[in-house]
Amino acid sequence: EMFGQLTTGLETAWNKLRGVDVLTKENIAEPMRDIRRALLEADVSLPVVRRFVQSVSDQAVGAGLIRGVRPDQQLVKIVHDELVKLMGGEVSELVFAKSGPTVMLLAGLQGVGKTTVSAKLAFYLKKLGKSCMLVAADVYRPAAVDQLKILGEKVGVPVYAEGTNVKPSEIAKHGLEEARKKSIDVVIVDTAGRLQIDKTMMDELKEVKQALNPTEVLLVVDAMTGQEAAALVTTFNIEIGITGAILTKLDGDSRGGAALSVREVSGRPIKLVGRGERMEDLEPFYPDRMAGRILGMGDVLSFVEKAQEVMRQEDAEELQKKIMSAKFDFNDFLKQTRAVAQMGSVSRVIGMIPGMGKVTPSQIREAEKNLKIMESMINVMTPEEREKPELLAESPARRKRIATESGKTEQQVSQLVAQLFQMRVRMKNLLGVMQGGSIPALSN
Ligand code: GDP
Repeated sequence: EMFGQLTTGLETAWNKLRGVDVLTKENIAEPMRDIRRALLEADVSLPVVRRFVQSVSDQAVGAGLIRGVRPDQQLVKIVHDELVKLMGGEVSELVFAKSGPTVMLLAGLQGVGKTTVSAKLAFYLKKLGKSCMLVAADVYRPAAVDQLKILGEKVGVPVYAEGTNVKPSEIAKHGLEEARKKSIDVVIVDTAGRLQIDKTMMDELKEVKQALNPTEVLLVVDAMTGQEAAALVTTFNIEIGITGAILTKLDGDSRGGAALSVREVSGRPIKLVGRGERMEDLEPFYPDRMAGRILGMGDVLSFVEKAQEVMRQEDAEELQKKIMSAKFDFNDFLKQTRAVAQMGSVSRVIGMIPGMGKVTPSQIREAEKNLKIMESMINVMTPEEREKPELLAESPARRKRIATESGKTEQQVSQLVAQLFQMRVRMKNLLGVMQGGSIPALSN
């Protein structure tokens, strides 16, 4: 069973959390060691494992309770989401050129399944309605040219070949010309592999790449080689620049290290995976499905997701009510900042603030800093001031007291008050509830 060992290793972790009420630093320590061990045994690279475990621990300890969800189930979900993130989150689609034939250059070491993948890829693209041509630019193995011809015939795709006495970059160029004449959509170029990386292979690849200006440069790697696959992708990316990887032999006894390490180590996505010797055994790499398969707990995951969704909805409804009645006060503000602290990210709150769409990590850090400052000021407000921000808008003395007690400037307090009113207005505008309420001006 693919990833079977990894799945079993992770199960050990969940089982140790049966019966606990809430995830704490103490009670997750041992399960986290199990997770670490399981990942290392799956041949995931050590720095990746370290970062992964750290991130999961941080999230687990900060995770609030979700009604009806057991802590062990919650950890499964956190690990799942982190696995998805590790593998790049979204599926990485193949890119096609805007005009002319799209060139896809395939590279890889010998025996990884490169020639097979070339034909599989043609078959896959044909099913998407693209016309394809295969180009045999592996001139070192006469058998490789023949193999490609046979496979091309099998999938009904023309193969361009010039034997083994012409330079690969020349063959590739001629192949591309031919494809242009025939208005072929995609040209797939199979290049020579070696038993290991050497300079001749890299130079040749660079030359072919230069001659073709390919849209996709895909490195074919064997899943059975574990974290070595990630190292290879990194090297090829530095040497020739690649757009992604194709992971083969996922149907075999793969332990998972390659699938989990490639993206994080190399910065390049896995675009496709091969899971068998048949021509139809090539498919897009879906990080979420892969994570689900590794955990083998689809039911738990969808259950936790639903519970989270319900919580979010209740929160959102409550917030909406407040906005409608213009009652969004400093207590709500504080609740939001605390929720943020718990989640370790302000992205959710920022997502709720109208007019703030996508944010960058540095904006998030900046916002987190600002929220800390705001929190210290709100903390020294009286309950009455929190509920009626108008009191602060009207009274410089109150603002001064808050500044003194929180160690901030009066200007910062004024800004905070103004911000709250701006937020009310913006939220009301967003909901289209223009009630004609005026904004109290700050009096000096
Ligand atoms: P190349 O030297 O990289 O061109 O490798 P080949 O395409 O000749 O493939 C080497 C061997 O791996 C062949 O026996 C293929 O049938 C086999 N192979 C390729 N892809 C897969 C795969 O996804 N799963 C399995 N089980 N075998 C594969």
